[in-house]
Amino acid sequence: MYTAESISKILKGELLQQTGNPEIEHILLDSRKLLTAETSLFIPLVSERRNAHQYIAELYQKGVSNFVVSEPPPLHEYPNANIILVKNTMQALHTLVAYHRQQFNIPVIGITGSNGKTIVKEWLHQLLEKDYNIVRSPKSYNSQIGVPLSVWQMKPENQLGIFEAGISQPGEMVNLEKIIRPTIGIFTNVGEAHNEGFLNIRQKVNEKLILFMKSDVLIYCKDYLALNECVNSFHNLVGKREIDNDLQLLTWSRKTDADLRIIGVDKNENHTRIDALYKQEPLFIRIPFVDEGSIENAIHCWALMLYLGKPQDVIQERMDHLGNIAMRLELKQGINNSSIINDSYNSDLGSLAIALEFLQQQRQHPSRTVILSDILQSGKSDATLYEEVAGMLEQKGIQKIIGIGKNIGREKQSFRNVKSSFYATTEEFLQQFNPDEFQNETILVKGARVFQFERIGKLLEQKAHQTILEINLSAIAHNIKAYQARLKPGTKLMAMVKAFSYGSGSYEIASLLQFHGVDYLAVAYADEGVELRRAGITLPIMVMNPEPTTFDAILQWNLEPELYSMHILEQFEEVVRYANKTDYPVHIKLDTGMHRLGFEAQDMELLVQRLKMDGLFRVQSVFSHLAASEDPASDDFTRKQAQLFNRMSVNLQTQLGYAIIRHIANSAAIHRHPDLQLDMVRLGIGMYGVDNAGGFSENLRNVSTLKTTVAQLKCIPAGDTVGYGGKWTAKEPSVIATVRIGYADGYPRRLGNNNGKMLVRHKLAPVAGVVAMDMLMLDVTKIPGVEEGDEVIVFGEDLPVQQVAEWADTIPYEILAGISQRVKRVYFQE
Ligand SMILES: *Cc1c(COP(=O)(O)O)cnc(C)c1O
Repeated sequence: MYTAESISKILKGELLQQTGNPEIEHILLDSRKLLTAETSLFIPLVSERRNAHQYIAELYQKGVSNFVVSEPPPLHEYPNANIILVKNTMQALHTLVAYHRQQFNIPVIGITGSNGKTIVKEWLHQLLEKDYNIVRSPKSYNSQIGVPLSVWQMKPENQLGIFEAGISQPGEMVNLEKIIRPTIGIFTNVGEAHNEGFLNIRQKVNEKLILFMKSDVLIYCKDYLALNECVNSFHNLVGKREIDNDLQLLTWSRKTDADLRIIGVDKNENHTRIDALYKQEPLFIRIPFVDEGSIENAIHCWALMLYLGKPQDVIQERMDHLGNIAMRLELKQGINNSSIINDSYNSDLGSLAIALEFLQQQRQHPSRTVILSDILQSGKSDATLYEEVAGMLEQKGIQKIIGIGKNIGREKQSFRNVKSSFYATTEEFLQQFNPDEFQNETILVKGARVFQFERIGKLLEQKAHQTILEINLSAIAHNIKAYQARLKPGTKLMAMVKAFSYGSGSYEIASLLQFHGVDYLAVAYADEGVELRRAGITLPIMVMNPEPTTFDAILQWNLEPELYSMHILEQFEEVVRYANKTDYPVHIKLDTGMHRLGFEAQDMELLVQRLKMDGLFRVQSVFSHLAASEDPASDDFTRKQAQLFNRMSVNLQTQLGYAIIRHIANSAAIHRHPDLQLDMVRLGIGMYGVDNAGGFSENLRNVSTLKTTVAQLKCIPAGDTVGYGGKWTAKEPSVIATVRIGYADGYPRRLGNNNGKMLVRHKLAPVAGVVAMDMLMLDVTKIPGVEEGDEVIVFGEDLPVQQVAEWADTIPYEILAGISQRVKRVYFQE
């Protein structure tokens, strides 16, 4: 049991103030994630951009009374708080959790590597949950913050820990090693991914190997040559360490001699049989997957099961039942205008907290429901457990809970403060299911695997076409951070969500942006802003193309118009005057050479006069748009625009006599012209994962994936033609796949007849014939094994939208914004 007093000792901190000594159970790092105030310890982290000490007051208000700080707050304002002063709060977090780890003498598996960490971790859990009470990282919590939060969950009843560790720069693994202190190591593989921050592969591998400094055994695949060499020199190094036990290596290989020598990999339709020799003895497993990634992940798990001495029949039986891992939380459109977050593969307190946070962040409907199964293996008594769950739900403003399972039903009195109903089994719920009971709400479906909640998901989700646009919300968050890292301190960020957020959604994206603390949103038209306000978006919103017919709506919904001409200013002025408003927030657009919208130099005098008149307006910002910030050949022009903007905007500011936010940089300018960041930048295409200027793409992650499926396959003889007008002729006997996407979905018609290509089974298939309204044909003659129902990638990670734009002789903006609304958007968070 921890208290402020004991934690202060562990941290060698100074207990600045102590007013009680209540038990501390939870570590809170993010004020938005507060669940149980009384038992939480808030540790505010400090980074270049954010100092979480600013949230202490708010959390104290909400009932948090334990704090570890590096900047002491005025104590008299917190009379009931226990406050521990340390030098560095991140270090304190690491020290505290490393201490916690030392209290347990159980096997702990530590997993690192480029890919597959989370799947290996989750599969090991599936394979071993019958044998051990397991504690593991929720989702892919593997960072400097995620690891301590994961390991902090260790409880006396746990018999095995499984934690993953990921790093982004040198020097980080030392901390994670102390916290995880794995007895068993798995190094999954070495890839090129996330190479930023490292000089080369070897530096990265060596850094990651630090995780296994004190381990008993390390499991890895010898076929990664760089990994194998690094492990061998690492082994020599730690072999010299002074402790008694040596690091044992347990290797596997598909190519050379190894402890687990793979001698055969046979794939059939949906299973793979893997044969191997282990200690000279022939063994095999069968897994219900056929892709290479799954095969590699399964072999790691196999090696671990062998190391643990599990009997062969047990290994085989469990491997045969490996299940899919939900790597992500998906948000889909549901029946009766509801939204569904489907997380039906696991249920523990950690992942429930993550899902609830996603639910809270996605605030499109005021009413929120959770469908929750029994929570298994929590290690707590049911009474305590469900009281805690009920507290979490209340904290997140959930109005309705549907509990499924015997245990949760028995504890129904815990949920006395919300609407609730209970069912003993999923079957029982399905039998009594009435779709009309779910309307205009966000529903989180969260259950342990055995409850098969995917069946509930199927009933609640709207049947979507098979052509969908997937939006990775975590990637958007990542991209925002990538740009923020390039901003000078104090520079504000305006996120451009015009045109349905470049085709990727409206309030779903805006909710995310609001959650991640961007400063401003910008939309093209007032109705886009109204939609965001209706969905509960409270950020200031600039409307770039305000039309007089929408001025009333602008006032009513507190939107901020861009004023770009005397004429529009006068019209808006009239409405503001009539509404009896003063100091109404507006934005002034200057034309510095783009010649689209904006005041010009000769308008300035009159503009200032009008703006000052009667105090009707408050100018929030003054800005201009660069015509070619991405193009080195136009840098002179860009500089001229910037100079003119500088003159005009400074002049405006001086004359108005108060501070105005000045901004001119769009995505490309943020990194190409950092001196133009000024007070704020306007981030557009880059946030959606597209670097249209070049030189920044390695920092960005792919956001959108447009996919569809094969509706029919045909074999046609040479000489036959395909599609309208017979524009495409088969040169040889050909296999033609008809897929469910056409120009009505936004796929450009000019990509017909070999101009465009799509990915089928990871290979490029050219478009055969013209693109029709709802369908098109692909030539898949050269791609073996294509079947009806196969997934077809139109663009995504492996086929960038830039490439598709290039084929269509246009820009990625047009392709993204042109995907029609009939294509369903599916949002997910990793
Ligand atoms: C669309 C837009 C942006 C964003 O441009 P990107 O190139 O997508 O970053 C910035 N400012 C204005 C005025 C815009 O219309």
